[in-house]
Amino acid sequence: MSSAQLKQRLIKLVRLYPILALSVLLLAYLLGGFSENENPLIPQSVVITCLYLFGGLVPLFFIIAFIVVGNASDKEFSSNKLNQSRLVYENAFDLPTQVMHGYKLAMITGRIPTLTGLTGDIYSSDSSAKCTINSEHVPPVTDCECGFYAYKDLTDAKFELSINPGAFVLDVDLYGIGFTYQRGYRAETQVVNLLTTPKRCMRCRILPSAVFVTTYRLGYDDIPWWQWQSRCVICSSSFKAEDKLTVEQMAEKLSLKIQSI
Ligand SMILES: [Zn+2]
Ligand SMILES: [Zn+2]
Repeated sequence: MSSAQLKQRLIKLVRLYPILALSVLLLAYLLGGFSENENPLIPQSVVITCLYLFGGLVPLFFIIAFIVVGNASDKEFSSNKLNQSRLVYENAFDLPTQVMHGYKLAMITGRIPTLTGLTGDIYSSDSSAKCTINSEHVPPVTDCECGFYAYKDLTDAKFELSINPGAFVLDVDLYGIGFTYQRGYRAETQVVNLLTTPKRCMRCRILPSAVFVTTYRLGYDDIPWWQWQSRCVICSSSFKAEDKLTVEQMAEKLSLKIQSI
């Protein structure tokens, strides 16, 4: 199992911790840990000691596990970098070719809707990557980070969506020169085939989403920005007409297909 998959599992386990803690408290209560009873099922001191151990040891286990996984992923990253420097082809036509179809996350920002990556890079539905570090780079460059990224598997993109609930999953094809990693690609150009919206409203998470609305947010250094979300009829009712777009209008503005999942 790769360090990234381990990290995903750990995060899923951390989410279970409150349920686990409540169950332990309930068990402690049932075993007489909180009662003044003279003869509890298990002595009160034993229950209290177990609770202290649980409260201290479990978080400690998670901290150690995250440090170990973090170190492993750092090592993986440096060994990938080492391999990258060996990517030397005398003739460009000798480069391996592969269909690079994948999935990634993007937000829709701006007064005029624009696709924005989670790192802040803005792109259209069909574009070539630009390097923000070195203007002489034609992305992707081996020892740089430039280029369009995508996951090979939809499950990886969906997991990332669970930690970035304001984003949408994109289905993309990457073209040109590209690098293949264990879980995805980094390439020169990108065509967005499809933007998927959640079935339910991104605010109340109960009613079906019906339209896109934009809200005004303050980002870092108080820089204002607009973020588009799909919402239900009720959660979008207070929005002015100029702050709303139908799914068809949004698809036209972004020049891509939109489908709900
Ligand atoms: Zn670069
Ligand atoms: Zn709603």
